[in-house]
Amino acid sequence: MKLDAKAIRYLTSEDFRVLQGVEAGSRNHEVVPTPLIAQLSGLRGGSGVHRAISNLAKTNLIAKVKNAKYDGYRLTYGGLDYLALNAHQKQKVVYSVGNQIGVGKESDIVVVAHGSGSQRILKIHRLGRISFRTVKTNRDYLRHRNTGSWMYMSRLAAMKEFAFMKALRENGFSVPEPIAQNRHTIVMSLIDAFPLRQIAKVPNPAGLYSELMDMIIELARFGLIHGDFNEFNILIKEIPIPSEKDKEAENAEAEEENYRLEPVLIDFPQMVSIDHVNAEMYFDRDVNCIKRYFQRKFHFVSDAPGPSFADAKKVFLKNPGKRLDVEVEASGFSRKMARDLENYMKEVGADGDAGERDNEDEEEDEDEEEGSGSDSEEVQEDEQPARADADVDESSKRLEGLQVSW
Ligand code: ADP
Ligand code: MG
Repeated sequence: MKLDAKAIRYLTSEDFRVLQGVEAGSRNHEVVPTPLIAQLSGLRGGSGVHRAISNLAKTNLIAKVKNAKYDGYRLTYGGLDYLALNAHQKQKVVYSVGNQIGVGKESDIVVVAHGSGSQRILKIHRLGRISFRTVKTNRDYLRHRNTGSWMYMSRLAAMKEFAFMKALRENGFSVPEPIAQNRHTIVMSLIDAFPLRQIAKVPNPAGLYSELMDMIIELARFGLIHGDFNEFNILIKEIPIPSEKDKEAENAEAEEENYRLEPVLIDFPQMVSIDHVNAEMYFDRDVNCIKRYFQRKFHFVSDAPGPSFADAKKVFLKNPGKRLDVEVEASGFSRKMARDLENYMKEVGADGDAGERDNEDEEEDEDEEEGSGSDSEEVQEDEQPARADADVDESSKRLEGLQVSW
């Protein structure tokens, strides 16, 4: 589902209070009864509430549930998006919404702007979006899934990602700047770079390769394993290095420009501690992902074996950095939250896509956008409780090229 922010400027503060009421009610009601919505929104006088409900339902921010035992509504992903956007807007984090640049399996990536005009990235976590494969294997589970769980799990993913990005950034790692988190969304700085996946040639594959391996080891030194360290989650910034000749030359453009490549790591909802029971598996998977990619794409094979998990552990024990896994736990993303999220992600097949790719035999690099193809948007399972499904296509069309401010 794409974000369609167009209607947000037509919503009144009353509408937002009612929307918040539905959200609050959704925490423990699959279908929120209308009288409860009125009560939770704290509005006096019935007619205002009913007008707001009908407005919100028309805009697909809430959906009426007809065949329930009682009359009621549920929050849709669109409704949750608007609540988060409204909060970001109030806190002056986001001023306007631009184009969607990515549709992942578990997130939407949207360019937004700050009031100053500078561009930022809004990442919307959508843990309820299930691929065809996992729908089949998890049918039973999905039947019992309620609105509360996709809202809660998507929020946990956003909280976790934000907490890790912050800790990493503060400790000198090359990651985007985390700016804000609200509900299932985070706002971060926009990195003006392409994913490694889209880079056809690098001047010095050995250099970049060893920099990436160093990054994996450095993460381990701080107690962490990324868990999805692959060509989609490494953005490559090209930083021009002016040569001596360039500096002297009148016309610098005539000279060959030299670039230094700087990898920037993104996508942290699946990070694990170096003490995790499957730490070694995740570590090896991260290392092998890069090894395989460099071999396939740049025909580069390193002379050095490893690094192995034992190497990483050695560095970690001999010269430990701050325990960022522990720091994140202390910051409010508790161990229980981590466990809940991990179990859910495993169940819906969302614990990193590196493993999946192991089985793919596609060799061609079409430079396509991650997840822009098949299973994420095509099939919506019938029990999906909170998606305005009928409107998905419509809203995606409307978003093209949309520039909205409110
Ligand atoms: P997912 O969890 O869906 O894989 P990611 O965080 O990996 O989401 O983002 C998906 C894609 O969106 C990335 O591959 C990248 O192209 C783009 N992207 C994400 N964050 C940024 C950012 N801060 N700056 C620029 N592009 C980004
Ligand atoms: Mg990713």
